Amino acid sequence: MAVTKTVPPEVIAQAVSCGLTLFGENRVQEALPKIERFPQAEWHLIGRLQTNKVRAVVSRFALIHSLDRWKLAAELQERAKQQGQTVRVLVQVNIGREPQKGGVLPEEVPDFLREVAQLSHLRVEGLMAIPPAACDPEEARPYFRAMYQLFRSIDIPGIEMKTLSMGMSADYVVAVEEGANLVRVGSLLFGERS
Ligand SMILES: *Cc1c(COP(=O)(O)O)cnc(C)c1O
Repeated sequence: MAVTKTVPPEVIAQAVSCGLTLFGENRVQEALPKIERFPQAEWHLIGRLQTNKVRAVVSRFALIHSLDRWKLAAELQERAKQQGQTVRVLVQVNIGREPQKGGVLPEEVPDFLREVAQLSHLRVEGLMAIPPAACDPEEARPYFRAMYQLFRSIDIPGIEMKTLSMGMSADYVVAVEEGANLVRVGSLLFGERS
C-alpha cells in the first residue's frame, strides 16, 4: 500500500499513472477529497478513527485497519446497518503494549474478535500493528513474529484471517520476512514528510 498522508493530489496522480492501485490515509478529513478525486483506486483507513467520523467512512474506505475498541465496533455496526453496508476491518493490536498507542492488547484479541464476530455488518479480515519505534528494523522483528503467531492462532467461527498489515518504510522487509502480507509504505515512495 502507498501511504499518501500529506501527499498532494498531483503526486498521487503520478503514483496512479505508475500503476499503484492501493492507497492508505490516516486522517478521514484529508482522505475524503482524495478518494473523490481518485475513485478508481482502493483506499484504506490506517489511522485512529473517532466515533464521530464513523458516518463519513462507511462505504468510502474499502478496509479500515484501525478497529481498536468495542465502542468503535458498535458504532460502525450501527452506521453500516443504517446504510445497508458491510464494513471490512482489521483489528489493530498494541503489540508493544505502549500506553500512548491505540490497539487491543494481544491477550485480549481472541475475546474481542469473538464479540466483533457477532456484529452482522462488520467483517473482520485480519490484524494490523505498528511496533514500537526503533532505530534498527531488527528491533521490530520479535513484534512482527508475535503478530504472525497471533494471526495464525485465531480460530473463530465467522472470522477469516486473511490480511496481516504490518511494516512501514523503515522495516517492511523484516515485516515481510515475518509474515506480513500487506505493508504500508509512505516516505520511501514519496519522500520524507515535513
Ligand atoms: C504514516 C503511516 C505509515 C507509513 O509510514 P512511512 O514510515 O512513511 O512508510 C504506515 N502506517 C501508518 C499507520 C501510518 O500512519
